[in-house]
Amino acid sequence: MPVSPPRAWAEIDLSAMRHNLEVAREAGGSAIMAVVKAGAYGHGLEEVARFLAGCGIEFFGVANVGEARRIAEAGVDTRIYLLGPTWEGEREEIVARGWTPCLSNVEEAAHFDALATAAGKRLRVHLAVDTGMGRGGFVAAELPGVTDKLASFPGLEIEGVGSHLPSADEDEEFTRGQIASFREVIDLLGGTERFRYIHLLNSAGLLGYERGSCNLVRPGLMLYGISPLPAMQGRLKNVMTLKSRVTLVRTLPAGHGVSYGRQFITTRPTRVATIGIGYGDGYPRHVSGHGPEIFLRGRRFPILGRVTMDQLMADVTDAPDVGAGDEVEMFGANIPVAEVAAKAGTIPWEILTGITPRVVRCHCGTP
Ligand SMILES: *Cc1c(COP(=O)(O)O)cnc(C)c1O
Repeated sequence: MPVSPPRAWAEIDLSAMRHNLEVAREAGGSAIMAVVKAGAYGHGLEEVARFLAGCGIEFFGVANVGEARRIAEAGVDTRIYLLGPTWEGEREEIVARGWTPCLSNVEEAAHFDALATAAGKRLRVHLAVDTGMGRGGFVAAELPGVTDKLASFPGLEIEGVGSHLPSADEDEEFTRGQIASFREVIDLLGGTERFRYIHLLNSAGLLGYERGSCNLVRPGLMLYGISPLPAMQGRLKNVMTLKSRVTLVRTLPAGHGVSYGRQFITTRPTRVATIGIGYGDGYPRHVSGHGPEIFLRGRRFPILGRVTMDQLMADVTDAPDVGAGDEVEMFGANIPVAEVAAKAGTIPWEILTGITPRVVRCHCGTP
């Protein structure tokens, strides 16, 4: 039985990802924790993990144990770090698998210690310090009272310390202050020599700031080719290209509505291309009315009216050569995903992680 090509697919260029990883390595000047949460930002967790493991990185950063398990079961043995707090029910598996959690309080530490001791293991853990994110970690002021306690747990090896930047792409002054207070925290904890790994910088942090006392960086978005700091965009290569196809081209008369709500009415006889992708694939409906464009046969065309679940329409009046079956780029090298995100009133992280399972991921560029 013949199998038809997909309606909507994402081409993922792993050689471009390797380039972006090298940019992170140079800018950070240090070891890498590749952040692959949320299915490697929509790029396919297992494929990306296998590829990056082969590029020689220290850690994968994941959001939860489900993601950690998928990486382990993909046969990848690079160390795995859990970026956020864990709750009780997850910790036995974490200890058994030797994943690395970050600690936000003494109770968590005590529980991990008990589980590790019972299993006859010593678990490597990192301290999370809240220097401004407000999401997890010890607040700096409580550290002096707890460090001795933490050091006394026989089942734990305090291998690292980390913090997170909330505004590295929005507030330089605050971020500089935060980097300085993280440094003070480390001094308070006994100095850099006490830790094998010290980490603070996400993509915006490592592209825009000195690494200071950090010897491990945690790039996410930049690995996927998008710089949170627009000035640095030229250094990165595009990784994902979201594509679909024209399924139909017709000419509508002047005065004809296009799509739900009839927000767009033709003002001239208009050649309208129908394209087989919509918000059901993760292409954001919120771009509607904000001047979104597609890229087709080497140029851009405007999307007309609202994006629907499975289809959208574009004005191809000026391109008589456009026909059914033509490939369309929704975002990629020619239409930056950051542009689509801005028109949808959101951020590229949300667009990438919102691409749904219906979109087939095709990986290329591996050696
Ligand atoms: C998601 C995340 C990162 C990666 O952030 P980017 O802005 O995508 O580089 C780094 N650290 C932590 C703790 C995160 O949650």
